[in-house]
Amino acid sequence: MILKKLIYGLFLISINAFSQPQISIDNVSFHIEYLASDSMRGRYPGTHEDEEAAKYIANQFKASGLKLLADNGYQHFDITTDLFYEKNNTLSIKKINVELFFDYIPAAFSANDSLTSQVVFVGYGIDDEYSGSTWNDYENISAKNKLLIIIEGSPRSSATNLDVNISIYDKIEIAKKKECAGILFVSGKEQNPIDKLPPIYILPGTHQEKIPIVYITRNIADKLLRKNKETIEHLEKKINTENKAHSFETMSNLSLVTNIRYIKKSTHNVVGLLESTDSIMKKEYIVVGAHYDHLGIGGILSGSRMPDTIAVHNGADDNASGVAGIIELAKFLNQIKDTLRRSIVFIAFSGEEEGLIGSKYFITNPLIPKENIKSMLNFDMIGRFDEENKSFVLGGAKTAVEYEFLLKGIMTNTPINVQLIPEGTAPSDHVYFYLDKIPVLFFHTGLHNDYHTPFDDASKINYAGIEKILDFASEIIINLSRTEKIRCSTY
Ligand SMILES: [Zn+2]
Repeated sequence: MILKKLIYGLFLISINAFSQPQISIDNVSFHIEYLASDSMRGRYPGTHEDEEAAKYIANQFKASGLKLLADNGYQHFDITTDLFYEKNNTLSIKKINVELFFDYIPAAFSANDSLTSQVVFVGYGIDDEYSGSTWNDYENISAKNKLLIIIEGSPRSSATNLDVNISIYDKIEIAKKKECAGILFVSGKEQNPIDKLPPIYILPGTHQEKIPIVYITRNIADKLLRKNKETIEHLEKKINTENKAHSFETMSNLSLVTNIRYIKKSTHNVVGLLESTDSIMKKEYIVVGAHYDHLGIGGILSGSRMPDTIAVHNGADDNASGVAGIIELAKFLNQIKDTLRRSIVFIAFSGEEEGLIGSKYFITNPLIPKENIKSMLNFDMIGRFDEENKSFVLGGAKTAVEYEFLLKGIMTNTPINVQLIPEGTAPSDHVYFYLDKIPVLFFHTGLHNDYHTPFDDASKINYAGIEKILDFASEIIINLSRTEKIRCSTY
């Protein structure tokens, strides 16, 4: 018996030495070099290079043994790349048209609509439900079915505990709750001494609101206020010196036609499934994701920290590193899939840099029953592990009741210098999962000087660091696939 056992043991050791599945760091390096090469031109959504990157990832997923979901691995969605104002945009006061681009301009996110309505002045468009402030521009005013003039920015009041950073998006949400017909934004003289309309930008995630939203000049606003013997400049002064709202119904009506056409391009999340062999638990999932898009060649509003420099933003750390990581995790886990109980879904997201568009699209169109997703692991920038400075953070460490115990066990067996962050929110793709009550873990090795610049290159990646993180992550995934219960806990 003893001899037999010994021989068996030796046999096992020799097998282990030669064929034990391992994560290949050479492959990780190959993927990063490819995805972050100059020829990929920064993988901007909707471009030819974005298509090439998606194709590469789908092929890798297939070669890793994953079953490609959706349309051959591609979950298509649109992003907005440009907009046009159609000829029939009009704004008229007493049947006299004022000039598009000069007197007024519909916001990029305005609804297309046609209406005539009474105009109501509602100051800065803030109510007391907003952030617990005591300021209320809507007191004793009915905004229902009216066109609202709202001054941009916030009052100078210090006594109201007002959030000075209130955005126009917050004001739109408030106005929509009041069931207004539309909004006319005007800038105050204090903020914008020259009475000029703002430039209109379109972002890939822009979508049309349900009401028309238009920027008008003070000159046009003053025309609407004339019968009430008021001007924006005077109202602005009055509100700020008396430190109270001065909203009122004007005696003017306004007719408005807004008609914007968006130019859209298609991009894709790439999705592959590693189905477990456990006949019951295979219907539950651990999602493993990383975004593959980046900032293209940079420029204004691209998210670049050097917006004046037009150059390929290679995005080696952000986020070729994460994508390379999940490709090799897929390959590794496929080789040991008999040990898994839950299935694993791998997703390379597009549109992350432009506002988490791909992950938001996935969570609203999940391809698998959302209630069966038991955890989401997000890899975003794992290529700059600085061990001395403990740069590797694991976010979401308290978003499941079971995580603390599970992570403790793994960290004892796979020692790694990691900072555990309890919270499940951070500006990356796991956020929409967490908001949907799915426990999350966020793998990230920290921001650095090259972040969102053309200098985030493959040559600066710490491959030994990635190897440690992927070993650690694979232990977590295996454990999560086998843990009986995983319950979300808000943190
Ligand atoms: Zn980024």
